[in-house]
Amino acid sequence: MNILVTGGCGFIGSNFIHYLFDTRDDVLVVNVDKLTYAGNLQNLASIEKKHGGSRYVFVHGDINDASLIMKTMRAHQIDAVVNFAAESHVDRSINDPSPFVTTNINGTQTLLEAARQLDIPRFVQISTDEVYGSLGPEGLFSETTPLAPNSPYSASKASADLLARAYHKTYGMPVVITRCSNNYGPYQFPEKLIPLVFTRAMQDESIPVYGDGLNVRDWIYVRDHCKGVAMALEKGQPGQVYNFGGHAEMANINIIKIILRELGKSESLITFVKDRPGHDRRYAMDFSLATRELGWTPDHDFASGIRETIAWYTSNMKWLRDVQSGEYRTFMNEWYSER
Ligand code: NAD
Repeated sequence: MNILVTGGCGFIGSNFIHYLFDTRDDVLVVNVDKLTYAGNLQNLASIEKKHGGSRYVFVHGDINDASLIMKTMRAHQIDAVVNFAAESHVDRSINDPSPFVTTNINGTQTLLEAARQLDIPRFVQISTDEVYGSLGPEGLFSETTPLAPNSPYSASKASADLLARAYHKTYGMPVVITRCSNNYGPYQFPEKLIPLVFTRAMQDESIPVYGDGLNVRDWIYVRDHCKGVAMALEKGQPGQVYNFGGHAEMANINIIKIILRELGKSESLITFVKDRPGHDRRYAMDFSLATRELGWTPDHDFASGIRETIAWYTSNMKWLRDVQSGEYRTFMNEWYSER
């Protein structure tokens, strides 16, 4: 299969490309990434070294660039698109929603249209549980829960889901949408909760917690999500939405305490700050459809996933320092100057 992965230099996209090369020997991966602040070529340096130019091709570009997308799809005879490319940070979307509309909505439509014109037989749109809004203390999101996004980020993702759905309904395009809960694991940009807490705790800096810290998320180890995306790509029913979750509901404050304990740091680093506007209280996923139709279940519980994650960051402090200092941009410039 010749797969066009977008946003493959980000957190989940890069884990997905590693997952594909670890588990499949019959794929060609073409990765189109704009290399925003969240895109890091270092995440795929080992893949580039081993498979670059043969089974792996990197294209520096924007998913809004219709002619580049069409040219890339044609040149590599793409038979599947997996769209991870997005602006992904809720706080940034509150400060400035416009890049979220441009990339998450317009960019998705550009990809859908190119795939439609070239009759590409598979399109997987990577989405999020945040499109469903917020839960009370009870209940789970299922694929039929009405969409009720509360942040500019989740509204842009819900819009992209609706476009993907419309391309299936109107043009019969074989689109599959996956909606996943909060991911954690290697290569996550340290603006997100788990690597942020790790980084600040290691430097004995205060750890900001929104509101009362009791907002609950259903945490999933990133590799389990990647396994689900690969299964949806290979076995998902056209037009279907699949939820993925970790069966691991945790309040933010408890996650922070677990990480501090693992690192031998004091809870006195925790500092409560003013809540995020429109902060959803609780997310939790019913993923029984993915289990029934795809045979998917997560392999990691939170205890094992967080231990693996802390171990990864502990032994990849250089990666973290390079991201914090902006040094990963130098890596990118060198990468270019070598070519
Ligand atoms: P990320 O911010 O780490 O990575 C996004 C990647 O997309 C970066 O490499 C960036 O350079 C690239 N990109 C951004 N705009 C682009 C554009 N216009 N053209 C091409 N590339 C562009 O994000 P992530 O956390 O890896 O999330 C990936 C996808 O998964 C997103 O669609 C997100 O909505 C979804 N998702 C994330 C989570 C989570 O917990 N992180 C959960 C569910 C779903």
